[in-house]
Amino acid sequence: MLRTENLSFSYKTKKGPLPVFQDLNVSFSPGFNVVLGPNGSGKSTLLKSIFGLLPYEGTVWYQKENVTAMGIDDKTKLMSYLPQMDTSFSVLTVLEMVLLGRLPELGRKVKDEDLHSVMEILASLNIERLAPRRFTELSGGQKKMVLVAQALVRNPKVILLDEPVNSLDLQKQLELCHLLRCLEEGTSIIAVLHDLNLAVQFAHHIVVLNGKGKLYGAGSPRETVTEKMLREVYGVVASVNYDKNGRPAISAIRSTRDVVA
Ligand code: ADP
Ligand code: MG
Repeated sequence: MLRTENLSFSYKTKKGPLPVFQDLNVSFSPGFNVVLGPNGSGKSTLLKSIFGLLPYEGTVWYQKENVTAMGIDDKTKLMSYLPQMDTSFSVLTVLEMVLLGRLPELGRKVKDEDLHSVMEILASLNIERLAPRRFTELSGGQKKMVLVAQALVRNPKVILLDEPVNSLDLQKQLELCHLLRCLEEGTSIIAVLHDLNLAVQFAHHIVVLNGKGKLYGAGSPRETVTEKMLREVYGVVASVNYDKNGRPAISAIRSTRDVVA
C-alpha cells in the first residue's frame, strides 16, 4: 500500500509560490486506483511528487518503506511512471522502447528473458505487430500503448499512469482498463482518468481531489462518485444511477454555473 503523509507542494512562479496541495494525506490500495479531480486540481503534480520528480514536503510511504528517502535506483525499481505529456521523441523501434522499460534490470547484454517479457506485454496489449516499427512513425494512440507497455514491462509494485487512455479509441480504452484492473495481485496502479464512467467501471479504489489542494474523498466507486461529489467538485449537475451490480453510471446534465451563449 502506498500513502502520502502531510504532502505539501507549491510551484515557484514569477508571481510567487503557487500552492497545489497542503498536508495531503492519501492512501492507495493494491489494485487499480483512479485519481479524479477537475483540471488543475493537482493530479499530475501528485503523481510526479510520488515518483520523486518534485521537491515536496512530507513523506511518501510504501508499506513500511520511506519512499521519500529512497535513492533513485530503489525508487525506479519500485515504481514506473507514465507522464501525461507525450513528448517522447525516439528513433528506436517499439521493441527497443519497451525493452528500455526493463532498464533497471537489464544487464550488459539483453537476455532471452528480457525479450520474452517485452513480447508478452506487447501481446497482452494487442500490439505485438508493432514491435519492429519505428516509434516516431506511430499514431498518437499507438505511441501511448507503447509507453504503457514500457511502464508495465518490469512488473513494478507501483505503476503511476497519468491519463493513460487519452488518445486511445474506445475499444483500447476498455481493453487497457480491463488489463489494469486484472494485473497481478499486489501491484498498485495509480492512474489519472478523466472519463468518470470508465473510472467507476474498472477502479477498485477512487481518490477525489477537491480542486483546492485537499482530498475530497476516497473509497469505492459507489462511495466516491455521487451526485453530490459531481456538483461540489466538478460543478456539474448529473444523475447517478446504479446497475444491477451496484456500480454507478453517470449522466452529466449541465454545468452548475451560468454559461454565456
Ligand atoms: P491536473 O493534472 O489535476 O490538471 P496539475 O497537477 O497539472 O493539475 O496542476 C496543478 C496546478 O499547478 C495548476 O494550477 C497548474 O496550473 C499548476 N502547475 C502545473 N505545472 C506547473 C509548473 N510547471 N509551473 C507552475 N505551475 C504549474
Ligand atoms: Mg494532469
